[in-house]
Amino acid sequence: MTDHYDLVVIGSGPGGQRAAIQAAKLGKRAAVIEQSDQLGGAALRAGTIPTKTLKEVALIFSGATGTGLLPDLRNLRRHVTVDELSAATGEVVRAQLRVVEDAFARNHINVIWGQARFVDQHTIAAAGRGGDKVVTADRFVIATGTRAARPAHVPFNDRTIVTTETLRNVGRLPRSTVVVGGGVIGTELACSLAAFDIQVTLVEGRDQLLGFVDREIIEAFQTAIRRLGITLRLGEKVHKIEEATGAGGEPVVQATLESGKSLRADTLIYAAGRQGTCKALSLDNVGIAYDDRERLKVNEHYQTSVPHIYAVGDVIGFPALAATAMEQGRLAACHAFGEPTRSMGSLLPYGIYSIPEISMVGETEKSLTDAAIPYESGVARYEELARGKMLGDRDGLLKLLVHQKDRRVLGVHCIGSSATELIHIGQMVMAYNGTVDDLVDNVFNYPTLAEAYKNAAHNAINKLTPH
Ligand SMILES: Cc1cc2nc3c(=O)[nH]c(=O)nc-3n(C[C@H](O)[C@H](O)[C@H](O)COP(=O)(O)OP(=O)(O)OC[C@H]3O[C@@H](n4cnc5c(N)ncnc54)[C@H](O)[C@@H]3O)c2cc1C
Repeated sequence: MTDHYDLVVIGSGPGGQRAAIQAAKLGKRAAVIEQSDQLGGAALRAGTIPTKTLKEVALIFSGATGTGLLPDLRNLRRHVTVDELSAATGEVVRAQLRVVEDAFARNHINVIWGQARFVDQHTIAAAGRGGDKVVTADRFVIATGTRAARPAHVPFNDRTIVTTETLRNVGRLPRSTVVVGGGVIGTELACSLAAFDIQVTLVEGRDQLLGFVDREIIEAFQTAIRRLGITLRLGEKVHKIEEATGAGGEPVVQATLESGKSLRADTLIYAAGRQGTCKALSLDNVGIAYDDRERLKVNEHYQTSVPHIYAVGDVIGFPALAATAMEQGRLAACHAFGEPTRSMGSLLPYGIYSIPEISMVGETEKSLTDAAIPYESGVARYEELARGKMLGDRDGLLKLLVHQKDRRVLGVHCIGSSATELIHIGQMVMAYNGTVDDLVDNVFNYPTLAEAYKNAAHNAINKLTPH
C-alpha cells in the first residue's frame, strides 16, 4: 500500500528540516525525501558547517589576531595536515547531524532515501537503492537547494580543478591555489586557505569583491586580505583553464585570464555561481516551470504556481542563506496548515565568514544616497577598545548609519572579530526603530567589542550636533 502523508518535503537541508519539523509540531504526519546518503543538505555536507569550522581553525593560524604575548602560531601552520582538518570539521558535522537526526526522531518524521520526482500533483516516486518508493501527500515543500555550477568550459577533474563540493578530494594541502569567484563563498575560502600559508590568487570579474558590501568596509577588507597573503586579480575574467605538468612532473593547473595573464597553481577552485537541481523533479508532470538556473518562483507564502506545492530555500534564489531557508521552511509549513504567522522581517543580516569577518544589516551609504535620505555615519575602531587590544584585532571597525533628522539607526556595517555576532545588536535596535541615543543610554559590559556600538554612537552624535 502507498504511504500517505500530510506533508512530504523534498530535501533535508535547513529549509526542508524546518518545514518538516514545523508540520510535525502542528500535529501533521510528515516525511522528508533525501537523495544523498546523509541528512543536512549543502549546509552540513560541503557548505556552511564544514567551511565555518575550517575558518575557525584557520583563524588560529592566520596571524590576524594575536597580542604578541604568546608565540606566533603561524610557524606551525605548515605542519597542519588535511587529516587533522578533516577530523576537526568531521567532529562538528557529526555533532550537528545528530541534532538533526534527534529532531526528526522526536517529531516522528519519516526519512525516505532516494531521488524524488513528481508523478502527479499528489504523488512522488523516490528512486533509491531498493528501487522506487511511491508516496502520496496533501501538500509538498520543495527544498532541493543548489549545487556548485560546473560550466562546460572548465575541465573539472575533481582532483586539481575542483568546486567547493569536491575540494575534499584534493587530498593534501596545496602550496598554491587559484580561486575563481570573489563572491561570499570564494572569498571565505580564499581567506581560510591563505591562513594556512597557501599562496592564493583570487580572481573576480568585477572591480571589487563582494559588491553588496559598504565601500569603506570593503576597502579595509581588501587591504587586510592582501596582508594575509592573497593576490587579488580584480576586474579579470578567466579565459581558459587547463591541467599542465609542473617542473617535477606533478600535475598543475594553468589559468589564462582574458587580459593575457597566466596563473599557475597546484589547484584551482571554481567558486563562481550555484545552480538549482529542479530538472530531476519532473516538474512537467505537475505544471511548474523553472528558470534557466533551475530556480522556482513563489508568492509571498512560498507557494509555487500549484498552491499545495511550496518551495523554500536556495531553490527560490536570493538571499540563499541557511538562516533564511529555515525561516522560509517554517513559514511555508505554517501557511500550508493554516497556522497564522507574521511574514519574515525585511531586516536580514548578512554574515561573511572571511578573515577578517564582515557583517551588515540595513542600508548602505550608497542605498541611502540613491534614495536621497539624509544620514550621518558614526565609526568606532576596535583598536580603541580594550577588548580589541586584547584580541590584537587591527582591522576591526563598526560603522553606524543614522538618519540626520530622527536619529534612527538605518544601517550597521562591521568588519573584524565577532562581526557576525555583533551585528545582531544593531539589527534589534533597528527592528524596534531605535535611535543612536538608545545606544548611548544603555550600559554595555566592559571590556567587550559591543562597546563599539557606544563609541560609534557618540561619534555619530558629535557629527549630528551643530557646533
Ligand atoms: C561553501 C558554502 C558555504 C556556505 N556558507 C554559509 C554560511 O556561512 N551561512 C549561511 O547562512 N549560508 C551559507 N551557505 C548557504 C547555505 O548552505 C544554503 O543557503 C542552505 O544550505 C540552503 O538550504 P536549503 O534547504 O535550501 O538546501 P540545501 O541545504 O542545498 O539542501 C538541499 C537538499 O535537497 C537534496 N535534494 C536535491 N534534489 C533532490 C531530489 N530530487 N530528491 C531528494 N533530495 C534532493 C539535496 O541532496 C540536499 O540534501 C553556504 C553554502 C556553501 C556552498
